[in-house]
Amino acid sequence: MRRPVFKTVAAVLAALLCLAGCQSGKTADPSGSAVSSVPGESSLQMTSFNKNLTPVLRDDACRTSYEIFVYSFCDSDGDGIGDLNGVRSKLDYIADMGFDQIWLTPIHPSSTYHKYDVDDYYGIDKAFGTQEDFDSLIKACHEKGIRVLLDLVLNHTSVNHAWFKAAADYLKKLPSGVEPDSLQCPSYDYYCFAREAKDGYVRLGSSDWYYEARFWSGMPDLNLDNAALKEEIRRIAAFWLGKGVDGFRLDAVTSYYTGNPAANTAFLKWLNETVKALSKDCYLVGEAWTDRASIAELYKSGIDSLFNFPFAGPDGVIRSVMSGVFAASDYVDAMCNSEKAFRAANPGYIDAPFYTNHDIARSAGYFAADDGPVTKMAYALSLFMSGNTFVYYGEEIGMKGSGRDENKRAPMYWSDDKNDPDLCKGPAEMEQFEMKFPSLAEQMKDEASLWTWFREAVRVRRAFPAIARGTTVKLAGICDAKVAAFSRSEGGQTVYILMNLKNQTAEKDLSSLPGSVKLSAVLNTNGEEIKLEAGKLVLPAYSIAVLTGD
Ligand code: CA
Repeated sequence: MRRPVFKTVAAVLAALLCLAGCQSGKTADPSGSAVSSVPGESSLQMTSFNKNLTPVLRDDACRTSYEIFVYSFCDSDGDGIGDLNGVRSKLDYIADMGFDQIWLTPIHPSSTYHKYDVDDYYGIDKAFGTQEDFDSLIKACHEKGIRVLLDLVLNHTSVNHAWFKAAADYLKKLPSGVEPDSLQCPSYDYYCFAREAKDGYVRLGSSDWYYEARFWSGMPDLNLDNAALKEEIRRIAAFWLGKGVDGFRLDAVTSYYTGNPAANTAFLKWLNETVKALSKDCYLVGEAWTDRASIAELYKSGIDSLFNFPFAGPDGVIRSVMSGVFAASDYVDAMCNSEKAFRAANPGYIDAPFYTNHDIARSAGYFAADDGPVTKMAYALSLFMSGNTFVYYGEEIGMKGSGRDENKRAPMYWSDDKNDPDLCKGPAEMEQFEMKFPSLAEQMKDEASLWTWFREAVRVRRAFPAIARGTTVKLAGICDAKVAAFSRSEGGQTVYILMNLKNQTAEKDLSSLPGSVKLSAVLNTNGEEIKLEAGKLVLPAYSIAVLTGD
């Protein structure tokens, strides 16, 4: 949640006018046409070459994580709304893809479908399930080695939260001329009330009071200076850690104190120390939708991770490289610079790269003319970054969704079968649009699909621990405008990664590498093979080679 959300009359009208097709599982953009690969057309080298790669498991936070927008993921009970039992029913799928952590968007009671306006931090929304369902989900995840992150929304609550309702009732009844007293109503001071209409404030009903609500009038901002509120936050974290969650994704950390980065860092420091005192392994990743320098400042809080926004989305490094605005070498330089800036702020930081999320247009729409290879390579650029990388549900099959937020949260496209019980109906105000790539069921049968590529890329990421844990070193003698080339080392192993980001074959002399190397994993987007012969690497268009010491 970054930008203020205002429900417009136009949006409501659009929803009313929306035809029944809005609710169907099949979706996408008017310009998109279905692209189908031909199953079994050719045997891709990667399918056989990588077959024996197995994940090297480490008990650390450098994971491959899957973001699940719960409302739209999988419905278990026929009401069309995704739920916790639906997530649990898909854990085999998630684990088979190689995801070893899930981030659930908010699951607490809330009147919206997205639930970023929380009514009760201890509860579970009835549409999503029960506490018992949650316990079953946690247990099943842990049995499969999947960690669970909850979305912790601390910038604001819902206007329906008991804290806000008590404060609003109190102020509305307060006789004029009497100053409010937080001893009489403690939660009055949990929010930011004022007697005048300041920037970012909205009027409290017909009273003479105003409250800060930067995102939407239904989401009053919390006053994170209040000691009693901070104790409430500590108790909320303790409650969910006690139920077995492994950490939290923190919503909107740059908005905690609007326009005051130092205060945001200070609050994150308090929060990080507080949760670590509850559970030393509790992992925190913050949503700081900002530039590299500002993210680096927030890392001074000691927080484990912050999402690496500069690489993500339609304007980020990844898309810019694949669209040719930046050179391949710029991707490597950007990783080196990013790592250096973050490490200087927090030597123990873990990068949290991603390509899209529920607030960002989906990536399949970034390259209109692409029928697969460019989208595949773009996602690899995210999966080959170090740290804990996040993948938004449905990106592994190239779902589409742009424009209004509801479109970015379309139902997971499990299959073309409209009677598939797993399909969700999606947000009510979602527009009707066509998907560009086939459904998961179709892609799972296709060796050349985006989904197969994704699974292979994650397999490679997990087989070489240095990819997620090492520091990026540019291979200066090899890296150029077309081929990204870098190494990472960890635990005595060095991996050399060469990515051909262009539509022509590249040949690279590897004599500048120390010692001899062997080809250890390959990712290719067409039937041409990656070859290493006499110190020369042949990289077909849009392919990736992973080499290790011989
Ligand atoms: Ca349901």
